Amino acid sequence: MSLESQPQRVAIVGAGLVGCLAALALANADKTNPAAPAYEVTLFEMRPDPRLQKASGQLRSINLAVSDRGIRALNAIDPQMARRVLAGMIPMYGRMIHHKQDSHGECRQESQQYGLYGEGINSIDRGVLNNKLLDELDAVGVQALFHHKLTSMGMGEKPTLFFNDETAPHEFDFILGCDGAFSATRFHLQKHMRMNFAQEYISKMYLELYIPPAVGADKFSIDKNHLHIWPRKDFMLIALANTNGSFTSTFFGDWDMSDHLVEGPDASRDVLELFERNFPDAIDLIGRDALVRAFATNPRGALVCTSCKPYNLAGKALILGDAAHSMVPFYGQGMNCGWEDVRVMMELLEESGFDTHKAFDKYSETRHEDLLAICDLAINNYREMASKVVDPLYLLRKKIDGW
Ligand code: FAD
Repeated sequence: MSLESQPQRVAIVGAGLVGCLAALALANADKTNPAAPAYEVTLFEMRPDPRLQKASGQLRSINLAVSDRGIRALNAIDPQMARRVLAGMIPMYGRMIHHKQDSHGECRQESQQYGLYGEGINSIDRGVLNNKLLDELDAVGVQALFHHKLTSMGMGEKPTLFFNDETAPHEFDFILGCDGAFSATRFHLQKHMRMNFAQEYISKMYLELYIPPAVGADKFSIDKNHLHIWPRKDFMLIALANTNGSFTSTFFGDWDMSDHLVEGPDASRDVLELFERNFPDAIDLIGRDALVRAFATNPRGALVCTSCKPYNLAGKALILGDAAHSMVPFYGQGMNCGWEDVRVMMELLEESGFDTHKAFDKYSETRHEDLLAICDLAINNYREMASKVVDPLYLLRKKIDGW
């Protein structure tokens, strides 16, 4: 049978932000390029369908920043889909620096625009975004199988996947591993190929906080079109707006320092003391009780950087997104970069006449340097966000040199 008449069977492991986009890109390929084969995509996800949790109404927004890099990747697949999926995102045209309290008791805010021409990034609800991508997949007939945890993998002539320790394998023409920083696809692939891999935890942790909507005409208690930063060198606080007027705020600090805030005998007192000294305006926004409760109950997250090479095993398997390059969140590019992986993969497939072997080999060869660079930018941006944004000399040089 010819390529045109026989669909290629593809498995995507992980229905996160990158796996969903990869599934959409392949499912749409023959609509945008008549030379593309039909791909029959199945998406496997170990967790339950997140859309079924909507009804509980208990879920709080956790947002992330979508940048031009990510938007370009969505547009390359289908601009109308991009518009639907990104509807409602809140543009952030600059950072709002929250300075330390001055001797008059004032907490000055300083706007630093990202660009001269209104360039910006955009705040979007992570859960809503993921659900919208899943809805788009339903609309194009991609089968998403939840409660399917990849537990084993065979790499014969065709890749075979095993889920939930079942013994009956699922066979595919090729697979994409989009199962996050602790990727099972990557782990199993490493048994079949010489993949170099490195992993490093940084000393910082993060803890999510919540700023509720304001009461009154303007439901936002601080400007919604800025990424808010309270830079304090060794630790910092950030906040991004949600459409309902709330803000998702994140505290970043050293694990050692956070131990006594979370587990210490005087944890509540220590949290309030730290905030009164460093972020008194944030106490007003979050609320004293809510702040103490958040440190007592919200989990602390670890920040891990991973890197590997190559990303593919011939034309049979390729890993994308955090599965291939988990980076620290300070540059807001993890998801954006994962979406860019999908765009680059599709371009290379087109260039190679949809020959996965050639395309995936070229992907590993050409993508690595860019991925290393963005991971470095991400780690370096901690210094930028946490301290350099309040260094007048640095800011002046940045302006003059047009960095
Ligand atoms: P994931 O989101 O981790 O999804 C992987 C999926 O695979 C999950 O659904 C998981 O359940 C599933 N899975 C895992 N194992 C298996 C298995 N064995 N079988 C089946 N399924 C499996 N990025 C940005 O671009 N902008 C930001 O502003 C931003 N902010 C961030 C803030 C924080 C605090 C953090 C920690 C990260 C942030 N990121 C941001 C990074 C971003 O969250 C990730 O890069 C992105 O989620 C990666 O998407 P992914 O689909 O590759 O992986």
